Amino acid sequence: MSGLLFVLSGPSGVGKSTIRKEVMKICQGLRYSVSCTTRSPRANEVEGVDYYFVDLATFEAMRDQGEFVEWAKVHGNYYGTPRRPLEAWWQEGFDVILEIDVQGAKQVKAVFPQGIFVFIAPPSLRILEERLRGRHSDLEDDILLRMTNAHLEMQSIRDYNYLVVNDVLEKAVDQFRAIIVAERCRIRE
Ligand code: 5GP
Repeated sequence: MSGLLFVLSGPSGVGKSTIRKEVMKICQGLRYSVSCTTRSPRANEVEGVDYYFVDLATFEAMRDQGEFVEWAKVHGNYYGTPRRPLEAWWQEGFDVILEIDVQGAKQVKAVFPQGIFVFIAPPSLRILEERLRGRHSDLEDDILLRMTNAHLEMQSIRDYNYLVVNDVLEKAVDQFRAIIVAERCRIRE
């Protein structure tokens, strides 16, 4: 593998996408892996940019043909990381960012132990809940499910190499940028 693999996890609503998008504006040579999902698009989401939105039959067919590096059921929907773009980007010398849940990150670690695993945590679960409600895009049941899962996901922090607390966005962006810079300088065997 010539390029690096950065795996970002953290509870839903913690700001993973915002941090990743900001870092990609200031760091060259990165590619974001767009996942497939069976979840319905939110109002502001764009096909092929935020996700590839597929139905369950399509997802299952892709999964059965081994087209995903990892896949998981998260908050009642299926999500998977397409394999082919990653291989192409690495060959072209890009570093790749995945934004996936903790179950997916475990699977990726089994296949790519050399990946760099970064957990994004909220300053507190109370603040996370306020952010999820502020997003106005999820139903009450969905928010409660995401909060229950957030408690569980926070217990996986020790499986990651780095922890970034998204208290002040600029600081979190700077920390993730610093991780990328440092990992690019690391001497590898
Ligand atoms: P959301 O529905 O809020 O976009 O995402 C819900 C959760 O699914 C988030 O934690 C997100 O990181 C995770 N997720 C998104 N894409 C993937 C994927 O390809 N694989 C896995 N395992 N999780 C994903």
